[in-house]
Amino acid sequence: MEPFQYIRARDVGEAIRVLADNPTAAVIAGGTDLTTLIRDGIRRPSHLIDINGLDLAEVSARPDGGLRIGALCRNAVSDKRIERNFPVLAEALRSGASPQIRNRATFGGNLLQRVRCPYYRVPEFACNRRDPGSGCAALSGDSSRQAILGTSGACVAVHPSDCAVALQALDAEILVRGPRGERRIPIDALHRLPGRTPAEEVTLRRDELILAVELPPRASSERSHYVKFRDRASYAFSLASAAVAVELRGGRIRSSRISLGGVAPKPWRAEAAERALNGRPLDKDAIDAAAKAATNGAAPRPDNTYKVSLAREVVRQALTELKGD
Ligand SMILES: Cc1cc2nc3c(=O)[nH]c(=O)nc-3n(C[C@H](O)[C@H](O)[C@H](O)COP(=O)(O)OP(=O)(O)OC[C@H]3O[C@@H](n4cnc5c(N)ncnc54)[C@H](O)[C@@H]3O)c2cc1C
Repeated sequence: MEPFQYIRARDVGEAIRVLADNPTAAVIAGGTDLTTLIRDGIRRPSHLIDINGLDLAEVSARPDGGLRIGALCRNAVSDKRIERNFPVLAEALRSGASPQIRNRATFGGNLLQRVRCPYYRVPEFACNRRDPGSGCAALSGDSSRQAILGTSGACVAVHPSDCAVALQALDAEILVRGPRGERRIPIDALHRLPGRTPAEEVTLRRDELILAVELPPRASSERSHYVKFRDRASYAFSLASAAVAVELRGGRIRSSRISLGGVAPKPWRAEAAERALNGRPLDKDAIDAAAKAATNGAAPRPDNTYKVSLAREVVRQALTELKGD
């Protein structure tokens, strides 16, 4: 581990200033991901900016009926408004990690956690995401856990966050601040696909801080659900998961949002599945059509073809649960 300077930020402005002045500075929130990356020599920040003293941990109502969740709000958050109005988010949070880690992990850190690809996490392996241009050891190694959608010849890693998948189904926005002021990033646009530059993981700029996650009051959000398939019942990342949110009007689906986790390098919006649902009653035929369409464009490798049927199955289960029988 290399030495770094520790700074306890007194306000958001100070955190942003240190980020702007030091190209390899990093913010630390819960530290559940960053500390292991530093320990293992994968990240080597010159400065560690501790933001835990900042006033960013509140959940508050927005004037339009939506919700704002502060970036430092812990993943163990218990809030009736989240449970009642955005159940998919409450379920996704509960499905992640262990109670101890959820007590520490924050919303901001969860969205920016790094991939769990074993070749990224062990510096001895080639990894374009960690060391641009070094290659991708996963392509000739074990790819049973890797992505089947949105991959490139440079990277096949899977995005690990459950929370981000739920937020995509809720059409959330990320409120950020940098030296040039505040802006909102739609959750769809926060994470990048790897393409030829997998090291450029997010559209958040190096000198920007996440302030909050904003949930708009969409009619579909109350009828939403998360299903996650993993190796064991707790403490495991998703092999395939689905967050679904459906608005019914007059017995038919007026709008829907379907997002997949565990199968792509970013939360994967299954728009073909949404098109297969919209305008139809939420019945078995519509659900089967959506489940099939959810994996349109999938390009599995020989040892992860199972993920195609798994992804379809989590979509089917999540929608069937919403149907209510
Ligand atoms: C054993 C284990 C199992 C896990 N299982 C799951 C799981 O099933 N599902 C799941 O979703 N996650 C899982 N996780 C991951 C865990 O949820 C994340 O480590 C956690 O959410 C990260 O949050 P943090 O606050 O600790 O982030 P940190 O480690 O503090 O930071 C992570 C990254 O975010 C940046 N950052 C943090 N806050 C901000 C901010 N406000 N603005 C800008 N940048 C910021 C940091 O600079 C760093 O790059 C697991 C982790 C472990 C260790």
